Amino acid sequence: MQIILTSPGKKRIRWGHPWIFKSDLQEHRKIPAGIVELYDLQKKFLGQAFYSPHSEIALRWITSKKESLDREFWREKLMAAKRLRESMEIPSNAYRVVFGESDGIPSFILDKYDHAYVFQTLSAGLEAMRDLLLEEVKSIFAPVLLVERNDVSVRTLERLPLTAQVVAGEGNTRVEIEEAGLLFEVDLLEGQKTGAFLDQRDNRILAGKLAEKKEKVLDIFSYQGWFACHLAMSAGEVTAVEQSEKACAHIQENAQRNNLKINVLAANAFDVLRSMADQKQSFDLINLDPPAFAKSRKQIGQALKGYKEINLRALKLLKKEGILISSSCSHHLSLNELMSVVHEAALDAKREIQVLRIGTQSADHPVKLGFPESNYLKCLFLRVL
Ligand code: SAH
Repeated sequence: MQIILTSPGKKRIRWGHPWIFKSDLQEHRKIPAGIVELYDLQKKFLGQAFYSPHSEIALRWITSKKESLDREFWREKLMAAKRLRESMEIPSNAYRVVFGESDGIPSFILDKYDHAYVFQTLSAGLEAMRDLLLEEVKSIFAPVLLVERNDVSVRTLERLPLTAQVVAGEGNTRVEIEEAGLLFEVDLLEGQKTGAFLDQRDNRILAGKLAEKKEKVLDIFSYQGWFACHLAMSAGEVTAVEQSEKACAHIQENAQRNNLKINVLAANAFDVLRSMADQKQSFDLINLDPPAFAKSRKQIGQALKGYKEINLRALKLLKKEGILISSSCSHHLSLNELMSVVHEAALDAKREIQVLRIGTQSADHPVKLGFPESNYLKCLFLRVL
């Protein structure tokens, strides 16, 4: 199948962005989802891409060559992704093995949780070759358990069904994994994302180091307490705040699993920060890891208010020389925007702060240059003067 791109569409591809929108297609013929060849208006070959007939993201670029995209091609992509992770000395047996576009397999996610592997196929074009890809995943990684976590809303934009299920192997879908000496349980069918937030691993480990000899520590937006456990390894007293009761139960379980003590508050983070300030509480270190407040660029104004409020309230609770760790996982908010919002919060809180380190997503989530969407996680390590 062949698709002709408009001039702006061609420009976009030449610049290296792997997504081409519907409006960049010269004509709209009925073509089934799958791999297509791309041409410019002069009928010059541009490359090959996954085609999604219903999505606004009509094309996902694969290669500029006229090569055969056969089993061997995809096997080599998977092997390259595997080699990269194996060369990284990741301090965990849970990590991202394939990060979609960044690893040359657009819209495909594969995460390893010890012996279990979890995948997502996030476009109709990719879904069309799902069987071949899964056969290769099984042959290369030999998963004891292979789980599909396609219960993600972006699939509805592709008119694909939502589902979460075991597709191969058998065994418990709750798996214990290790991260830098700590043990955590992951629910492969029900946990957030593919089970856990693997992208924050490096920042959790550094947070643990910075909590050394700190007396009172707060972990806000704790989910299942992974930051909280790293913090509790070093700090005196750790309090975790999380609004989901279910997640709170996991915080307690994870603490027990590692013989740690964590106070858990099942409550709204905004309310807790307010009431702690009213009670004149103070802390040596606070970690803020909120969900993406901006799910689209349109929501950025509202999101900035949210980021400012939590950072402002946290800064007011910090002791002199206290540490603030402030993350944003929304790619719609740039690093500079996050730094500005924290700066504004510091001005309002009348605190001076220095940046100790700028963290990002762990290296098993590599960024593809030209694809800003792949560069999404920011984690500022700050110190109040
Ligand atoms: N720090 C975690 C990931 C946090 S994800 C880790 O490293 O694994 C964000 C969490 O914030 C989710 O668990 C979500 O339930 C929680 N959350 C979202 N809004 C909240 C609010 N207003 N108050 C408290 N928790 C909230």
